Amino acid sequence: MKANIKDLSREELESWLAERGEPRYRADQIRRWLFQKAAVSFDEMSNLSAKLREALAAGFAISRLRVARSDRSADGTVKFLFTLDDGYEIESVLIPETKRLTLCISAQAGCGLGCAFCATAQLGLNRNLAASEIIDQILEVSRTLPPERRITHVVLMGMGEPLANYQQTLRAIGLMTDVDSGLGFSSRRVTLSTVGLVPQIKKLIDETQVNLAISLHATTDEVRSRLMPINRKYPLAELIACCRALPIPKRKRITFEYVLLRGVNHSAEDAKRLARLLSGVRAKINLIPFNPHAGSEFTRPTQAEIETFQNQLAAYGLQVNVRRPRGDDIHAACGQLMAANSETMSGDFTRISTRKPGDESHSSPVNHH
Ligand code: SAH
Repeated sequence: MKANIKDLSREELESWLAERGEPRYRADQIRRWLFQKAAVSFDEMSNLSAKLREALAAGFAISRLRVARSDRSADGTVKFLFTLDDGYEIESVLIPETKRLTLCISAQAGCGLGCAFCATAQLGLNRNLAASEIIDQILEVSRTLPPERRITHVVLMGMGEPLANYQQTLRAIGLMTDVDSGLGFSSRRVTLSTVGLVPQIKKLIDETQVNLAISLHATTDEVRSRLMPINRKYPLAELIACCRALPIPKRKRITFEYVLLRGVNHSAEDAKRLARLLSGVRAKINLIPFNPHAGSEFTRPTQAEIETFQNQLAAYGLQVNVRRPRGDDIHAACGQLMAANSETMSGDFTRISTRKPGDESHSSPVNHH
C-alpha cells in the first residue's frame, strides 16, 4: 500500500523532492493543495510539472475519510460518522453558534480510559488515529459546507483521549495552526480536552499554544477515581499542582469541565472543595449536565440543582458556565459518541458498529443519508 502523503512531515516531503532534483518550495506548494484546497488527486496540482505529478502519484496516496452517515439535530448540530480505511469508525460533530462554527473532532477510534459515565469508553480503545485522519475530519466536513461557511473553531473533544495519542495529535495541531501551508487556524481557536495526563499536559503547553480543557468531574480522589480510573495514576493534587505551575498567558484560562451527575458530585461540599482546589489556578469551569446514553447508570441533576451548584461556585468567585447540550437528539452531545450506526441508535447498544479490520460484513453498503 502506498504511503499517505498527508502523513509526511514537511522535512520528509522536502527530502523526497530533493532526491528528484526538485526545489524545497514545492513541499509547501503540495501542502497547500492538500490542506488548503483539499485536493483529492495529484492531477489537480496545476502548478507542478506533469512529471512530478506522476512521480507523486506513483509514490503516494491522498487519504480521504468516507462519510458513512450524517445526522442533523433539531438545533442545527450535525454529527458525521466516518469510516476509516481499515473499517473502524469515528465521529465528528459540527456545532453552529451565533458567531462560531465549531467542529469537534476525534483523536482515537474508541477510547481506553474507561470513564464510567462516557459512551465512548464502552468501545474500548480500537486504535490511535494518524495525524492525517485527525485533519481529514476537518477537510471532509468543510467540503460539505457552502462556500461562504467556514469552520471557525476546532475542539479536540470527540472520541478518544488526544494526549494518549500524543505524537499524532501534535502533528495534527501543527497542521491545523500552520498558516503558510496548513489549515491556518489561530491557536486561540483550537482547544484540546484531556482526562488529565500530567506529563503530556506539560509537554503540550511547552510545544503548542492551543487552549487547554481538563475533565475534572469530581472534588475528591475517592469519587474521581470511581468515575475516572486515570485518577489512580494522576490524582487530584498532582493534576492541580501541574495546572498551577503551567505557564498560562495572562489573557488565558484553563477550562475545567465538570460533568454533573445527579447525587454524585454537585453537593454544597463539592462546591466548597472545588473552590479550594482551584484557588490560584487561572480557571474557568464548564458545567456539563450529564448526557444520557444506553447502558449508563447515571442521571442528570434537575435544572434547580444545576443552578444551585452554579450559584454556589459563582459565590466563591469562580467563573462558571453551564454548557448547553448540543445535538443530544442525534446522540451527538458530550459523552454520547460511540460511532453508533442506525441500528444501534434504536437502543441495541451492545451491537456497536465499530467493526474489526477484515470483518466481511463491512463490505455491505453503508446507509448514506
Ligand atoms: N478524552 C478527553 C476528550 C473527550 S471530551 C476528555 O476526557 O477530556 C468530552 C467531554 O465530555 C469530557 O469532559 C468528558 O468527560 C465529557 N463527557 C463524557 N461523557 C459524558 C456524558 N455522558 N455527559 C456529559 N459529558 C460527558
